Amino acid sequence: MLGIKEAVERLRSGGVVAIPTETVYGLAAEVTNLQAIQEIFFLKRRPSDNPLIVHVSSLKQLSEISKPLTELELSIINKFWPGPLTLILPRKKKVLDAVTAGLETVAVRMPLHSLCLDLLQRTGPLVAPSANLSGTPSPTKKEHVQNDFGPSFPILDGGACSIGLESTVISCRTSHLSTTRKNVSANSKTPSQSDIIIYRPGAISEKQLSEFGTVEYYSASQAEHDSAGSIPILPSPGLKYRHYAPKARVEWLSSIDRLREVTETSIVLLLDKTQLVDQAQAVEGTISSQELAQSFNLVDCEGSWERFGQLLYDTFRVADIENYTHVFVQDIRLSTATSSLKDALTNRIEKAISGQ
Ligand code: AMP
Ligand code: MG
Repeated sequence: MLGIKEAVERLRSGGVVAIPTETVYGLAAEVTNLQAIQEIFFLKRRPSDNPLIVHVSSLKQLSEISKPLTELELSIINKFWPGPLTLILPRKKKVLDAVTAGLETVAVRMPLHSLCLDLLQRTGPLVAPSANLSGTPSPTKKEHVQNDFGPSFPILDGGACSIGLESTVISCRTSHLSTTRKNVSANSKTPSQSDIIIYRPGAISEKQLSEFGTVEYYSASQAEHDSAGSIPILPSPGLKYRHYAPKARVEWLSSIDRLREVTETSIVLLLDKTQLVDQAQAVEGTISSQELAQSFNLVDCEGSWERFGQLLYDTFRVADIENYTHVFVQDIRLSTATSSLKDALTNRIEKAISGQ
């Protein structure tokens, strides 16, 4: 474990350090240090065409990385930074190709975590993809980083992440939906007419963003194509890679009675146990709350969406470490309660279910 001074020293001398943020732990290196950035790709086994998010602590640091902002981008940043929102912006030429995977844009965010902001003030902008091996669930506490990279890996410990899900990734309508490398065909699809496109849902929701203009989720049908017109070029390359899934099978749980049929060792993650149990009480012979606790490793968030977000990846990781073969996750799509986290959580759980 490192103190902040040691973390700064290591980063300045070209090292890679795991750092805390409010979303997930990041694997950080100086944005200008090619060797350290290559080390991140190597350590994570991350495909080199999947670009990295740059983290900044001020608009001045942002101006070192991106071209001037539009009014829309500036008002969104003023509202949501520091916070779990990443903007895809036109890059300055000097940003290394290794950071952007050769794209003309760069993804940037300012994290809402005091220790991380303190670090960034001292080091300058840092690249920081999630501090996990590619394909495993993102790390939300230091133990998760140690699971993937070993017990002596250098970590700046900032406690458990308060959100526990990766940032919302957006771009605003300007020239830069054309995020592609230089080989796009002239007759590729017309970009969307919405003001804001969400590539990855996160804790900043569609509804919150819609105060600033029209919003839509990116869909693969909007992809531009290569010069032969055949291969779709995704504006956010991470979309095509497998994420978030544990080795255990993940399944939506819409009724407690489903658990009566289960013989496999299972973890059950519930948003609100009472909701499910009350619903089932009308049915004779249903599983009782007590039986439930005896038969399964039960994680109940007592109705708190924040807690549910914080514990999702932890539950996936516990399942794999303790050799559970199944993870049942309460079907939050059926919940009448609303939360700004609902879309992001649904997205991650659906990906984990489909093994994407
Ligand atoms: P992670 O670092 O694991 O949180 O993932 C970062 C996400 O941001 C991935 O889905 C990347 O594809 C996406 N991303 C990073 N930089 C860019 C960029 N310049 N344009 C589009 N998407 C990006
Ligand atoms: Mg990641």
